Parts: sequence; structure tokens; C-alpha cells
Amino acid sequence: MISHPKSQALFQRAQQLIPGGVNSPARAFGAVGGEPPFIERAKGPFLWDVDGNRYIDYVGSWGPMILGHAHPVVLEAIHAAAEQGTSFGAPTERENLLAEAIIEAVPSVEKVRLVNSGTEATMSAIRLARGFTGREKIVKFSGNYHGHVDALLVAAGSSAATLSVPNSPGVTAGTTHDTLLFPYNDTQAVVDSMDRYGNEIAAVIVEPVAGNMGCVAPEPEFLLALRQQTWRQGALLIFDEVMTGFRVARGGAQERYQLKPDLTTLGKIVGGGLPLGAYGGRHDIMDCVLPAGPVFQAGTLSGNPLATAAGLATLRELERDPPYDRLDRKAARLAEGLALAARAAGLPHQVARVGSMLTLFFSGQPVRDWETASACDTRQFARYFWSMLRQGIYLPCSQFEAMFVSDAHDVDLIDSTVAAAIQALTR
Ligand SMILES: *Cc1c(COP(=O)(O)O)cnc(C)c1O
Repeated sequence: MISHPKSQALFQRAQQLIPGGVNSPARAFGAVGGEPPFIERAKGPFLWDVDGNRYIDYVGSWGPMILGHAHPVVLEAIHAAAEQGTSFGAPTERENLLAEAIIEAVPSVEKVRLVNSGTEATMSAIRLARGFTGREKIVKFSGNYHGHVDALLVAAGSSAATLSVPNSPGVTAGTTHDTLLFPYNDTQAVVDSMDRYGNEIAAVIVEPVAGNMGCVAPEPEFLLALRQQTWRQGALLIFDEVMTGFRVARGGAQERYQLKPDLTTLGKIVGGGLPLGAYGGRHDIMDCVLPAGPVFQAGTLSGNPLATAAGLATLRELERDPPYDRLDRKAARLAEGLALAARAAGLPHQVARVGSMLTLFFSGQPVRDWETASACDTRQFARYFWSMLRQGIYLPCSQFEAMFVSDAHDVDLIDSTVAAAIQALTR
């Protein structure tokens, strides 16, 4: 049994200082009820909280830590970079090297701009798509998350798929007026909307593997239809690979599914655990970005020396010793084990997995979009989550977030995780 007195005291204090006690809402454990442990340090596949409890970590900072925490090669790169100064606001060679590494790995990226987060990447890619095409409408899919960009914080409105309403106070109706929202994996809706609005649509933005409603794989014809329809109508296709880039394959979902988008957004792994995002794509489109072209986008800390050092070290490690086959085997073993545990407990469930992203959904029906995801038994998830945490397994604190396996997780850890799940579910 785990004890948390120091975390409890820190969370109480945090709530007086920071809204909800956290600097990003998912960390507050709202979806499962209760209070989060405060983390003191991490190494490889493990986290330790301030009360000295150890956890096997399947969050991985929500995706970046594919090599495991505090990887020696990454730490060394950060140390060495810090010795040389932490920010110059002027060009550095390492920005070229990271850009080269991204362009070499991600099939559709010919030129790339570095930013500070995934949100900045998607916000900038959308501005660029609108600037390049001279059109205003954006298509997105419900259950996909692209960061807290105003125009993308939309919920389905009353009139079927065409009207998007803001889903946060502070986002104006005007801002979301040009955002069209459709169900994920609904190929027919995409075809119909493209027929209807095609020449007004600047871009379609999609998570090519959804990770923000739990892990939901794209159906084979869905991504292909997006590529064909955008191409036919002169709209840009944006793959938001902030989560999937360097995760589901080194070249992301576009490598895995052999489809080239016009623009790609990156974050998470590309920064190696430091704040860094990127957007890139066809060079004729990217050359519309200031100062090569007229579309404004800037950043005081963009291309930061520490962030590029961590990102470059991570990408080079992924190239030197690609972990993707190992990750696939370990994640498959974990997925099978979780499914067996749920079956032994007689619980309706689905296990979805793409590479090292996976989700155990508590639902009797296949999960293919937000409607089917949101039908899951979230109370069952909360019981499972807390039992796992008490057994030293740190899962994402929501049914609608994907687990990540890192290269530092070994088979023994996977097996002890499955044993904990059996314990958690059959009580
Ligand atoms: C995490 C995420 C973002 C936002 O990235 P931040 O760095 O949190 O701003 C955008 N898109 C996808 C698909 C993500 O998973």
C-alpha cells in the first residue's frame, strides 16, 4: 500500500498557487478522482514520487520518453550544450543538424521550422495552410486533439457535422466559425463534405493514429480518402504527428501507412523531453513562412540550444539503434496480457494498439471514433487506475489517453504489469 503524505501537502499548497494545482489539466487526476503524486525523479522505465514510492511508468511524459527517462546519451548532450550557454536568439549549427535529422526521417518533410510545443506547431501549420491556399475553412475530427489552439477547440454543434461550437469559454464563435468537425474514421462524411465545401477548405488536420481519445487506429480507407480528397480539391493535408512522430515508426504514421501529407506537425519525442515542436512539409509551402515568405511566425526561444541538443541526441539514438521492433514485441505482449486479464475478470473490453501506443477500453463494442470511445465505462477505468497505482503502475489518468511503452521497459516489467492488472480487475 502506497503512502502519499508529502504529495498531499504539496498538492494542497499547489492549489493555492496554481489553478487546480497543476500546469496542465490532465495531471490533476480529475478524470479518475483523487490527488496526484508529486514526482521527484525518474530513470529508465521508473518514476519516484516525493514520498519515495516507485512506479513503472506508462505515461512517459505523455509521449516524449521513448528511450526511457534520463537516458545517459540525452543527459550528456544537454549538459554539454548548457556549458555553452542556454539561449542566444541567433542561428546555431545544431538547428541545422536537427532539421536534417527530421527531414531525413520523416518522408514528406522537405523543410522544417522549429517551435516550442506541439500547440505552436499546429497553430502555425494552420496559419500557413490558410496563407498558402488563400482559403479559410479547416476540417478536423472529433476526439482528435491538436493542442490548445483556439480554432481547434471545437465541439460538435447541433446541425450535424457542419456547425462547430467553441468547447471552452474564451474561444469566440468567430474563431471557430471556419472549423468543420467530422467523426473520426468516417470516410463518407469526408467525401461528402469535400464535394460540398472543397474549394473553401484550406486544410484537413488529422491525428493519423488517434491518441487523444485513447489509442484509435485509422481505418485503411480513411487516411487514403483524406489524401485523395484534399489533393483533388487543392486543400492541404496536415498530419498532426506530435504524438505519432518517431513513435509508431521512425518516420511516424506517414511511414507506417505509406501516405505523404503536405504538412506535418511534430512535438513530444522530437524534443527528447525538452520543450520543442516543429512543423514541416513541401518546400514550396514552407517557403511561404517569414522571412522566406509572407506568413508570420516567430519565437524568442525557438531552436533553443538545450532543446535541440536533447532532440538531436534522441533522434540519433533512434537512428543508431532503432527500437521499433523491440517496442512492438513488448507492447504486443502487454496488450495481450491486459486483454487476458480483462477477459478473466469477465469485463467487456477492447485493447487497441498501434506500435508502442495502446489503450485498454472498457467497452463491449469496437472503438473507432469519439462516439464509441465516450461510451466506455469510465468508472471501471477509475477503479482499475487506482488499483494499478497502488501496485506501483503509473498509467495515464484517463480512459481517453494512450499508454506508451519505452525502450527501457523489459519483459519482466511488462509481465509484472500484467500480473497487477489481473489483481486490479479480478476483485
Ligand atoms: C500533445 C499533442 C499536441 C499538443 O502538444 P503540446 O506540446 O502539449 O502543446 C498536439 N497534437 C497532438 C496529436 C498531441 O498529442
